[in-house]
Amino acid sequence: MGINVTRPFLAPKEEYDQLIQEIWNTNWLTNNGPLLREFEENLKSYLNLDRLHLTVNGHIALETAIRAFDLQGEVITTPFTFASTTHAIVRQGLTPVFCDIRPDDYTIDPAQIESLISDKTCAIVPVHVYGYPCAVDTIQNIANKYGLKVIYDAAHTFGVRLKGKSLCSYGDSSILSFHATKLFHSIEGGAVISHDDEYSQKIEEGKNYGIIDEETVASSGGNAKMNEFQAAMGILNLRYIDTIVEERRQLTEHYHKLLDTIPGISYYCPDPSIVEYNYAYMPVVVDEQVCGCSRNELYLRLKEKEINARKYFYPITNEFQCYKNLYAHNTPVAKRISESILCLPLYNGLSFSEIDNICTIISDCSKK
Ligand SMILES: *Cc1c(COP(=O)(O)O)cnc(C)c1O
Repeated sequence: MGINVTRPFLAPKEEYDQLIQEIWNTNWLTNNGPLLREFEENLKSYLNLDRLHLTVNGHIALETAIRAFDLQGEVITTPFTFASTTHAIVRQGLTPVFCDIRPDDYTIDPAQIESLISDKTCAIVPVHVYGYPCAVDTIQNIANKYGLKVIYDAAHTFGVRLKGKSLCSYGDSSILSFHATKLFHSIEGGAVISHDDEYSQKIEEGKNYGIIDEETVASSGGNAKMNEFQAAMGILNLRYIDTIVEERRQLTEHYHKLLDTIPGISYYCPDPSIVEYNYAYMPVVVDEQVCGCSRNELYLRLKEKEINARKYFYPITNEFQCYKNLYAHNTPVAKRISESILCLPLYNGLSFSEIDNICTIISDCSKK
Protein backbone atom coordinates (compact mmCIF):
# COMPACT_ATOMS: atom_id res chain seq x y z
CA MET A 1 0.00 0.00 0.00
CA GLY A 2 1.26 3.46 -0.88
CA ILE A 3 1.86 6.47 1.30
CA ASN A 4 -0.69 9.28 1.21
CA VAL A 5 -0.20 12.92 2.09
CA THR A 6 -2.17 12.34 5.28
CA ARG A 7 -3.80 9.53 7.24
CA PRO A 8 -6.48 10.00 9.88
CA PHE A 9 -5.40 9.56 13.48
CA LEU A 10 -7.21 6.74 15.28
CA ALA A 11 -6.93 6.24 19.04
CA PRO A 12 -7.41 2.77 20.63
CA LYS A 13 -10.88 1.53 19.70
CA GLU A 14 -11.74 0.42 23.27
CA GLU A 15 -11.63 4.04 24.36
CA TYR A 16 -14.06 5.06 21.63
CA ASP A 17 -16.33 2.12 22.55
CA GLN A 18 -16.48 3.37 26.12
CA LEU A 19 -17.49 6.86 25.05
CA ILE A 20 -20.03 5.53 22.56
CA GLN A 21 -21.63 3.42 25.31
CA GLU A 22 -22.78 6.69 26.88
CA ILE A 23 -24.85 7.39 23.78
CA TRP A 24 -26.75 4.12 24.35
CA ASN A 25 -27.15 5.04 28.02
CA THR A 26 -28.63 8.46 27.31
CA ASN A 27 -30.35 7.68 23.99
CA TRP A 28 -29.24 11.16 22.90
CA LEU A 29 -27.75 11.21 19.38
CA THR A 30 -27.64 14.87 18.42
CA ASN A 31 -29.03 18.36 19.26
CA ASN A 32 -26.73 19.78 21.92
CA GLY A 33 -26.17 16.44 23.68
CA PRO A 34 -24.03 15.77 26.75
CA LEU A 35 -20.96 14.65 24.77
CA LEU A 36 -21.14 17.76 22.60
CA ARG A 37 -21.25 19.98 25.68
CA GLU A 38 -18.35 18.10 27.24
CA PHE A 39 -16.32 18.38 24.00
CA GLU A 40 -17.06 22.11 23.80
CA GLU A 41 -15.90 22.69 27.39
CA ASN A 42 -12.75 20.60 26.83
CA LEU A 43 -11.89 22.55 23.70
CA LYS A 44 -12.45 25.94 25.34
CA SER A 45 -10.12 25.02 28.13
CA TYR A 46 -7.50 23.42 25.85
CA LEU A 47 -7.50 26.37 23.45
CA ASN A 48 -8.01 28.93 26.21
CA LEU A 49 -11.04 30.50 24.51
CA ASP A 50 -14.25 31.78 26.13
CA ARG A 51 -16.73 31.15 23.31
CA LEU A 52 -16.61 28.25 20.90
CA HIS A 53 -19.52 26.72 18.95
CA LEU A 54 -19.22 23.25 17.47
CA THR A 55 -20.52 22.48 13.99
CA VAL A 56 -20.93 19.40 11.83
CA ASN A 57 -18.01 20.44 9.60
CA GLY A 58 -15.57 23.28 9.02
CA HIS A 59 -17.14 24.57 5.82
CA ILE A 60 -20.53 25.13 7.40
CA ALA A 61 -18.74 26.77 10.34
CA LEU A 62 -17.32 29.32 7.90
CA GLU A 63 -20.66 29.91 6.19
CA THR A 64 -22.36 30.27 9.57
CA ALA A 65 -19.64 32.65 10.81
CA ILE A 66 -19.98 34.86 7.73
CA ARG A 67 -23.78 34.80 7.72
CA ALA A 68 -24.01 35.81 11.38
CA PHE A 69 -22.50 39.23 10.54
CA ASP A 70 -25.28 39.93 8.03
CA LEU A 71 -22.83 41.24 5.42
CA GLN A 72 -23.34 42.58 1.91
CA GLY A 73 -20.91 43.44 -0.87
CA GLU A 74 -17.26 42.59 -1.28
CA VAL A 75 -14.93 40.46 0.80
CA ILE A 76 -11.17 40.68 0.47
CA THR A 77 -9.67 37.21 0.62
CA THR A 78 -6.83 34.97 -0.55
CA PRO A 79 -7.00 32.63 -3.54
CA PHE A 80 -4.25 30.43 -2.04
CA THR A 81 -6.50 28.15 -0.03
CA PHE A 82 -8.85 25.19 -0.15
CA ALA A 83 -12.05 25.56 -2.22
CA SER A 84 -14.10 25.96 0.96
CA THR A 85 -12.93 29.52 1.73
CA THR A 86 -13.99 31.07 -1.58
CA HIS A 87 -17.10 28.90 -1.88
CA ALA A 88 -18.32 30.00 1.57
CA ILE A 89 -18.04 33.68 0.57
CA VAL A 90 -19.82 33.13 -2.74
CA ARG A 91 -22.51 30.87 -1.25
CA GLN A 92 -23.32 33.60 1.27
CA GLY A 93 -24.08 35.99 -1.59
CA LEU A 94 -20.87 37.99 -1.27
CA THR A 95 -18.29 38.91 -3.91
CA PRO A 96 -14.73 37.71 -3.34
CA VAL A 97 -12.00 40.23 -4.16
CA PHE A 98 -8.70 38.39 -4.41
CA CYS A 99 -5.62 39.78 -2.75
CA ASP A 100 -2.17 38.37 -3.47
CA ILE A 101 -0.12 36.52 -0.84
CA ARG A 102 3.32 37.00 0.70
CA PRO A 103 5.99 34.84 -0.94
CA ASP A 104 7.55 33.76 2.36
CA ASP A 105 4.59 32.41 4.38
CA TYR A 106 1.87 32.28 1.67
CA THR A 107 -0.68 34.25 3.77
CA ILE A 108 -2.60 37.28 2.48
CA ASP A 109 -0.26 40.23 1.79
CA PRO A 110 -1.43 43.02 4.12
CA ALA A 111 0.43 45.63 2.05
CA GLN A 112 -1.98 44.99 -0.83
CA ILE A 113 -5.26 44.93 1.08
CA GLU A 114 -5.91 48.68 1.22
CA SER A 115 -5.66 49.15 -2.55
CA LEU A 116 -8.50 46.62 -2.96
CA ILE A 117 -10.89 48.31 -0.52
CA SER A 118 -13.92 49.97 -2.15
CA ASP A 119 -17.12 51.47 -0.76
CA LYS A 120 -18.63 47.97 -1.10
CA THR A 121 -16.03 46.20 1.02
CA CYS A 122 -17.52 44.72 4.20
CA ALA A 123 -15.00 42.16 5.44
CA ILE A 124 -11.62 40.46 5.14
CA VAL A 125 -11.44 36.67 5.14
CA PRO A 126 -7.76 35.67 5.46
CA VAL A 127 -6.51 32.11 5.87
CA HIS A 128 -3.78 31.01 8.28
CA VAL A 129 -2.66 28.64 5.55
CA TYR A 130 -0.84 25.46 6.78
CA GLY A 131 -1.28 26.95 10.27
CA TYR A 132 1.13 29.83 9.53
CA PRO A 133 -0.19 32.97 11.26
CA CYS A 134 -1.36 35.84 9.05
CA ALA A 135 -0.14 39.38 9.79
CA VAL A 136 -2.93 39.67 12.35
CA ASP A 137 -1.99 43.08 13.81
CA THR A 138 -1.65 44.84 10.45
CA ILE A 139 -4.87 43.25 9.20
CA GLN A 140 -6.69 44.40 12.36
CA ASN A 141 -5.40 47.97 11.93
CA ILE A 142 -6.71 48.09 8.36
CA ALA A 143 -10.05 46.62 9.46
CA ASN A 144 -10.36 49.21 12.23
CA LYS A 145 -9.54 52.07 9.88
CA TYR A 146 -12.24 51.07 7.35
CA GLY A 147 -14.78 49.47 9.71
CA LEU A 148 -14.43 45.94 8.25
CA LYS A 149 -15.07 42.58 9.89
CA VAL A 150 -12.19 40.09 10.01
CA ILE A 151 -13.16 36.42 9.82
CA TYR A 152 -10.23 34.01 9.84
CA ASP A 153 -10.36 30.68 8.09
CA ALA A 154 -8.30 28.96 10.79
CA ALA A 155 -9.02 25.43 9.53
CA HIS A 156 -5.31 24.53 9.70
CA THR A 157 -4.44 26.17 12.99
CA PHE A 158 -5.65 23.81 15.70
CA GLY A 159 -3.57 24.57 18.80
CA VAL A 160 -1.35 27.22 17.18
CA ARG A 161 -0.45 30.04 19.56
CA LEU A 162 0.84 33.47 18.61
CA LYS A 163 2.59 35.52 21.30
CA GLY A 164 1.21 33.15 23.92
CA LYS A 165 -2.44 33.50 22.78
CA SER A 166 -4.53 31.12 20.71
CA LEU A 167 -4.33 32.20 17.07
CA CYS A 168 -8.14 31.94 17.11
CA SER A 169 -8.40 34.84 19.55
CA TYR A 170 -7.56 37.36 16.78
CA GLY A 171 -10.12 39.03 14.50
CA ASP A 172 -13.90 39.19 14.93
CA SER A 173 -14.28 35.45 14.44
CA SER A 174 -12.34 32.35 13.38
CA ILE A 175 -13.39 28.92 12.22
CA LEU A 176 -11.72 25.56 12.80
CA SER A 177 -12.05 22.30 10.86
CA PHE A 178 -11.95 18.90 12.53
CA HIS A 179 -12.11 16.90 9.31
CA ALA A 180 -10.57 13.40 9.43
CA THR A 181 -7.60 14.56 7.36
CA LYS A 182 -6.73 17.45 9.68
CA LEU A 183 -4.23 16.97 12.51
CA PHE A 184 -7.02 17.04 15.10
CA HIS A 185 -10.37 15.59 14.05
CA SER A 186 -13.86 14.53 15.08
CA ILE A 187 -14.45 12.45 11.88
CA GLU A 188 -16.07 15.54 10.35
CA GLY A 189 -16.49 18.62 12.45
CA GLY A 190 -15.72 22.25 12.98
CA ALA A 191 -16.16 25.23 15.25
CA VAL A 192 -16.88 28.93 15.17
CA ILE A 193 -14.95 31.05 17.66
CA SER A 194 -16.78 34.10 18.94
CA HIS A 195 -15.63 37.00 21.11
CA ASP A 196 -18.96 38.34 22.40
CA ASP A 197 -22.34 37.08 23.60
CA GLU A 198 -24.40 38.70 20.87
CA TYR A 199 -22.40 37.02 18.09
CA SER A 200 -22.47 33.72 20.02
CA GLN A 201 -26.26 33.93 20.09
CA LYS A 202 -26.34 34.49 16.31
CA ILE A 203 -24.08 31.47 15.76
CA GLU A 204 -26.29 29.25 17.94
CA GLU A 205 -29.30 30.42 15.92
CA GLY A 206 -27.51 29.96 12.60
CA LYS A 207 -26.57 26.41 13.58
CA ASN A 208 -30.13 25.38 14.30
CA TYR A 209 -32.65 26.91 11.88
CA GLY A 210 -32.79 30.24 13.72
CA ILE A 211 -34.88 28.57 16.40
CA ILE A 212 -34.92 30.41 19.74
CA ASP A 213 -37.59 28.37 21.48
CA GLU A 214 -40.47 26.08 20.57
CA GLU A 215 -42.54 28.93 19.14
CA THR A 216 -39.93 31.52 18.13
CA VAL A 217 -37.87 31.35 14.96
CA ALA A 218 -35.78 34.51 14.68
CA SER A 219 -33.76 34.04 11.49
CA SER A 220 -33.35 31.80 8.45
CA GLY A 221 -30.64 29.62 9.93
CA GLY A 222 -29.47 26.29 8.57
CA ASN A 223 -28.57 23.02 10.24
CA ALA A 224 -24.92 22.89 11.23
CA LYS A 225 -25.18 20.77 14.37
CA MET A 226 -22.48 18.29 15.36
CA ASN A 227 -23.74 14.87 16.51
CA GLU A 228 -22.74 12.83 19.57
CA PHE A 229 -20.63 10.29 17.65
CA GLN A 230 -18.50 13.10 16.31
CA ALA A 231 -18.24 14.71 19.74
CA ALA A 232 -17.12 11.36 21.22
CA MET A 233 -14.34 11.12 18.61
CA GLY A 234 -13.33 14.70 19.37
CA ILE A 235 -13.21 14.10 23.14
CA LEU A 236 -11.08 11.02 22.54
CA ASN A 237 -8.63 12.65 20.12
CA LEU A 238 -8.20 15.67 22.37
CA ARG A 239 -6.72 13.31 24.99
CA TYR A 240 -3.94 12.59 22.48
CA ILE A 241 -3.37 16.06 21.03
CA ASP A 242 -0.08 16.77 22.78
CA THR A 243 1.40 13.45 21.60
CA ILE A 244 0.01 14.04 18.11
CA VAL A 245 1.73 17.43 17.84
CA GLU A 246 4.97 16.20 19.39
CA GLU A 247 5.22 13.26 16.99
CA ARG A 248 4.56 15.58 14.04
CA ARG A 249 7.25 17.96 15.32
CA GLN A 250 9.81 15.16 15.29
CA LEU A 251 8.78 14.02 11.80
CA THR A 252 8.95 17.60 10.52
CA GLU A 253 12.42 18.12 11.98
CA HIS A 254 13.58 14.92 10.33
CA TYR A 255 12.26 16.21 6.99
CA HIS A 256 14.00 19.56 7.52
CA LYS A 257 17.34 17.91 8.24
CA LEU A 258 17.21 15.91 5.00
CA LEU A 259 15.65 18.61 2.82
CA ASP A 260 18.32 21.12 3.86
CA THR A 261 20.85 19.14 1.81
CA ILE A 262 18.80 19.27 -1.42
CA PRO A 263 19.37 22.34 -3.62
CA GLY A 264 16.26 24.19 -4.83
CA ILE A 265 13.94 22.84 -2.13
CA SER A 266 12.80 25.34 0.49
CA TYR A 267 10.19 25.52 3.22
CA TYR A 268 8.86 28.09 5.66
CA CYS A 269 9.27 27.90 9.43
CA PRO A 270 7.16 30.15 11.67
CA ASP A 271 9.33 32.23 14.03
CA PRO A 272 9.64 30.02 17.15
CA SER A 273 10.12 33.05 19.40
CA ILE A 274 6.47 34.12 18.83
CA VAL A 275 4.69 31.10 17.29
CA GLU A 276 3.93 27.76 18.91
CA TYR A 277 3.32 25.78 15.73
CA ASN A 278 1.21 22.63 15.26
CA TYR A 279 3.12 20.93 12.40
CA ALA A 280 -0.09 20.58 10.39
CA TYR A 281 1.51 20.23 6.95
CA MET A 282 4.90 19.75 5.26
CA PRO A 283 4.83 22.01 2.18
CA VAL A 284 7.99 22.51 0.13
CA VAL A 285 8.60 24.98 -2.67
CA VAL A 286 10.53 23.68 -5.66
CA ASP A 287 12.77 26.19 -7.44
CA GLU A 288 13.05 24.49 -10.81
CA GLN A 289 16.10 26.51 -11.93
CA VAL A 290 18.13 25.44 -8.92
CA CYS A 291 16.61 22.02 -8.30
CA GLY A 292 16.82 20.86 -11.88
CA CYS A 293 13.34 19.41 -11.72
CA SER A 294 9.89 20.97 -11.60
CA ARG A 295 7.20 20.57 -8.96
CA ASN A 296 5.12 18.53 -11.41
CA GLU A 297 8.04 16.23 -12.23
CA LEU A 298 8.71 15.71 -8.55
CA TYR A 299 5.04 14.96 -7.94
CA LEU A 300 5.07 12.32 -10.70
CA ARG A 301 8.37 10.80 -9.58
CA LEU A 302 6.96 10.32 -6.08
CA LYS A 303 3.70 8.94 -7.49
CA GLU A 304 5.62 6.28 -9.48
CA LYS A 305 6.86 5.04 -6.11
CA GLU A 306 3.30 5.13 -4.68
CA ILE A 307 3.97 8.22 -2.61
CA ASN A 308 1.00 10.52 -3.00
CA ALA A 309 2.17 14.04 -2.27
CA ARG A 310 -0.46 16.71 -3.00
CA LYS A 311 -0.39 19.93 -4.98
CA TYR A 312 -1.88 21.96 -2.12
CA PHE A 313 -3.03 24.51 -3.14
CA TYR A 314 -3.30 24.20 -6.89
CA PRO A 315 -5.03 25.64 -8.77
CA ILE A 316 -5.63 28.86 -6.86
CA THR A 317 -9.35 29.39 -6.32
CA ASN A 318 -9.65 32.40 -8.65
CA GLU A 319 -8.56 30.09 -11.47
CA PHE A 320 -11.21 27.46 -10.73
CA GLN A 321 -13.40 26.73 -13.72
CA CYS A 322 -16.39 28.14 -11.85
CA TYR A 323 -14.67 31.45 -10.96
CA LYS A 324 -12.08 32.28 -13.59
CA ASN A 325 -14.49 34.20 -15.80
CA LEU A 326 -16.27 35.89 -12.92
CA TYR A 327 -13.55 37.46 -10.79
CA ALA A 328 -10.22 39.16 -11.37
CA HIS A 329 -7.18 36.97 -10.87
CA ASN A 330 -4.16 39.22 -10.86
CA THR A 331 -2.44 37.41 -8.01
CA PRO A 332 0.96 36.52 -9.51
CA VAL A 333 2.66 35.45 -6.28
CA ALA A 334 -0.18 33.09 -5.39
CA LYS A 335 -0.06 31.69 -8.92
CA ARG A 336 3.70 31.17 -8.81
CA ILE A 337 3.61 29.51 -5.38
CA SER A 338 0.68 27.29 -6.38
CA GLU A 339 2.71 26.09 -9.38
CA SER A 340 5.81 25.31 -7.33
CA ILE A 341 4.53 24.02 -3.97
CA LEU A 342 4.07 20.40 -2.95
CA CYS A 343 2.76 19.03 0.35
CA LEU A 344 4.77 15.98 1.40
CA PRO A 345 3.24 13.14 3.45
CA LEU A 346 2.94 13.98 7.14
CA TYR A 347 0.83 12.03 9.60
CA ASN A 348 1.02 10.21 12.90
CA GLY A 349 2.49 6.80 12.27
CA LEU A 350 4.70 7.90 9.35
CA SER A 351 8.18 6.53 10.02
CA PHE A 352 11.60 8.16 9.83
CA SER A 353 12.64 5.55 7.25
CA GLU A 354 9.67 6.42 5.05
CA ILE A 355 10.78 10.07 5.25
CA ASP A 356 14.31 8.93 4.33
CA ASN A 357 12.87 7.23 1.22
CA ILE A 358 10.80 10.25 0.24
CA CYS A 359 13.79 12.57 0.57
CA THR A 360 16.03 10.20 -1.40
CA ILE A 361 13.54 10.29 -4.28
CA ILE A 362 13.49 14.12 -4.11
CA SER A 363 17.27 14.24 -3.98
CA ASP A 364 17.66 11.86 -6.96
CA CYS A 365 15.11 13.89 -8.89
CA SER A 366 17.03 17.09 -8.20
CA LYS A 367 20.36 15.59 -9.32
CA LYS A 368 19.23 14.17 -12.61
C1 LIG B 1 -10.51 21.70 5.50
C2 LIG B 1 -10.68 23.13 5.21
C3 LIG B 1 -11.92 23.79 5.30
C4 LIG B 1 -13.22 23.09 5.45
O1 LIG B 1 -13.30 22.22 6.47
P1 LIG B 1 -14.22 20.90 6.43
O2 LIG B 1 -14.22 20.49 7.84
O3 LIG B 1 -13.54 19.93 5.52
O4 LIG B 1 -15.57 21.28 5.95
C5 LIG B 1 -11.96 25.16 5.13
N1 LIG B 1 -10.85 25.86 4.84
C6 LIG B 1 -9.64 25.28 4.71
C7 LIG B 1 -8.46 26.12 4.42
C8 LIG B 1 -9.53 23.89 4.86
O5 LIG B 1 -8.34 23.30 4.68
